[in-house]
Amino acid sequence: MLKGIGASDGIGIGRVMLIVEQSLKYTPTTVTDVDAELKRYREAVDRFCENTMQQAESIRKSTGDKEAEILEGHIAIIRDPFMGGEIEKLIQAQQCAEAAVEQICQMFIDMFSATGDDLTMQRAADVRDIKDGVLSILLGVQEVKISDAPAGTVLVCKELTPSMTAGIRKENIVGIITETGSQTSHSAILARALEIPAVLSVSGAVTQLSSGEQVIVDGKAGSVITAPSPEEVETYTSKREAFLRERRELENYRGKKTLNADGTEFELFCNIGTPKDANKAVEADGEGVGLFRTEFLFMDRDRLPTEDEQFESYKQASLILKGKPLIIRTLDIGGDKDIPYLGLAKEENPFMGFRAIRYCLKNRDMFKSQIKAILRASAFGDIRIMFPLITAVEELRAGKALVEEAKADLKASDIAFDENIRVGVMTETAASGVIADLLAKEADFFSIGTNDLTGYTMAADRGNGDVSYLYSPFQPSVLRMIRSIITCGRAEGIPVGMCGEAAANPMMIPLLISFGLTEFSVSAPSVLKVRKNIAKWTKAEADAIAEKVMSMTTEAEITDYLRSVV
Ligand code: PEP
Ligand code: MG
Repeated sequence: MLKGIGASDGIGIGRVMLIVEQSLKYTPTTVTDVDAELKRYREAVDRFCENTMQQAESIRKSTGDKEAEILEGHIAIIRDPFMGGEIEKLIQAQQCAEAAVEQICQMFIDMFSATGDDLTMQRAADVRDIKDGVLSILLGVQEVKISDAPAGTVLVCKELTPSMTAGIRKENIVGIITETGSQTSHSAILARALEIPAVLSVSGAVTQLSSGEQVIVDGKAGSVITAPSPEEVETYTSKREAFLRERRELENYRGKKTLNADGTEFELFCNIGTPKDANKAVEADGEGVGLFRTEFLFMDRDRLPTEDEQFESYKQASLILKGKPLIIRTLDIGGDKDIPYLGLAKEENPFMGFRAIRYCLKNRDMFKSQIKAILRASAFGDIRIMFPLITAVEELRAGKALVEEAKADLKASDIAFDENIRVGVMTETAASGVIADLLAKEADFFSIGTNDLTGYTMAADRGNGDVSYLYSPFQPSVLRMIRSIITCGRAEGIPVGMCGEAAANPMMIPLLISFGLTEFSVSAPSVLKVRKNIAKWTKAEADAIAEKVMSMTTEAEITDYLRSVV
């Protein structure tokens, strides 16, 4: 078995087609007729653009606009006057077109690769694709025709380039295996868009697999089963059928309201980490964003993002959501989330230490600039503010006071914002659970963070294997905490959501319906599954389950019972 990154869900069973890169070797020469060489280069670029346009058109028909735009981006890159100008300068200095294209493209590839930023590194893959395309034309090398692949083909290559993808006939390709790429690489995006199971970053795939051999691609587990036994083929064939059945069934829930079996409506939001993730929320049919983890804007850089930079990010997310709600959680650092340039002191017990709202309230300038950025963005959509790790009413009051100060500053500068912006509490500590009645009187909404709530209630670190048997949201203590938070919120008439992982757990859903939760916020791929699971239960059925569960004494009893009913 070969292991890699599961990048597109599903099971593919088929025979390998190895895509071995054609040699693009050449001997650099000094040209004497510069004008003729420039003409040869320009014609190659024209041909490249024509081919790419055709490929984009075909991918637009088979896959969609977004995927076609990746290819059209290649034309924009090669037509970029700076890049083209630099290549032509080298030709004018008597380098042959191949060497000029290679040198300048490589310069861009190195530059983009060095950033370490996932998205910018994608640009390096684009330029590599362009370089190979133009070189193939200049050298007259024939490209492999993926479009000729027979039915039941598993494509195996170093890297799946957008131009290769254009040749894919969805009905013939049952799996993709590559040696490079990550969850967010173009290969992954395209494979998901084509709904072809894919495993990326399988090291040595091209050398270890040979054309014609049978393999099974498990895009969920991120594994490739080589030389499968007849039993394995049978098992995976049933798994594949079950997967396809579920996918078809889930599609019935796309574009629908989130209703339980009685027709009561719930909100079904997504959790995101970057503004661009808002696209994933929309594509997944999320009805908004219930948790924007803003700490990602502060990580992977060497200084604080400015108010303007943050404003642009929050505004971008909000515009993508086109008026759907966006709950922005203020900076939640410390604990497991370090930001080196802030120079946080090492603590004996960081999870109980100087972090999240505690750190922000002591670093008021930084906190106020985040709040101002959120307020400014609130002029562009339905934005709400949420404070993490609240343990006392004073913290909520201090945070709200800062929101008022920030509003006054903006007003004085005549900057627009939503005057009625809602300010909520992330109930994720034992303390906030116990004083939920008090917090509910002063918060505009609650969102239950079960990831931390479970840890703080059980005094069990989520990352510590020795105590993981205690870390379960189905512990009677945690369930009582959840029920109490929802009851207290509802008593004060404020909406109560859940943005911890437990919100997507099918065993938790009937309990949440019974307790009175109004909003679920889950990862994008879970949206349709959660909608389907909510639709399963009437309130009366959910109440009967919850009543039974809340009378039980141990976590094992509860989970055994829930497993038997869901
Ligand atoms: C939580 O604690 O449940 C939560 C959603 O926040 P995070 O996982 O970012 O701590
Ligand atoms: Mg948390």
